[in-house]
Amino acid sequence: MSLRILIVEDEPDIASVLQDYLRVAGYETEHVSDGPTGLDRLLKDPPDLTLLDIMLPGMDGLAVLREARAHTHRPVILITARIEEVDRLLGLDAGADDYICKPFSPREVVARVRAVLRRTQAGPDEAAAAGRALVLDEARWQATLDGAALSLTRREFHLLQVLARSPGRIFSRAQLLDLAYDDDADVTERAVDSHVKNLRRKLAVAAPAHEWIRSVYGVGFAFEPPSAGA
Ligand code: CA
Repeated sequence: MSLRILIVEDEPDIASVLQDYLRVAGYETEHVSDGPTGLDRLLKDPPDLTLLDIMLPGMDGLAVLREARAHTHRPVILITARIEEVDRLLGLDAGADDYICKPFSPREVVARVRAVLRRTQAGPDEAAAAGRALVLDEARWQATLDGAALSLTRREFHLLQVLARSPGRIFSRAQLLDLAYDDDADVTERAVDSHVKNLRRKLAVAAPAHEWIRSVYGVGFAFEPPSAGA
């Protein structure tokens, strides 16, 4: 049975392109064009994933998501018209699983849908198996991956700890500065990038094929544990 994607989008051209691409990719799709109808569909017949535009007639996407989250944890990708808005949304902890900015390529949307579904459909056992590989020992700032010690600096350790505590969650650079560098006000967002780069290099030694820390264009970073068997 194919997975069902709900598209809540008031611009018919965008909705129709998304529907075409998602169908070719093997998904069933349903399209509604205002907030209240979107919420109704989310509550009465929750889809496997929802693409939810923020600027909608009747009720905006954030309000729809807030209401829906009280009843369903199925994944939602929010669509925003302004890249600058994503930082604010992350700060609000809006509860989305990913964010996409207009204008987007439909191909990119399909890739993101796949990635979110892969991540959220992993069962608890699978998630546990994936999580076991990386062990963080806070007392000694020591990280081991599959039993092998990673030699991390204290900063890299704290950064990895913040990211790894919430697998899949997207953090903006400003949030990472707040959470992982609270002891030092002089660290810049550029330093975060360079520490992420170092972490990737060190994590790659143990699992070269896996991208542990995903860059979300224009937004920040997310920790992606490998799925079992990867
Ligand atoms: Ca819109």
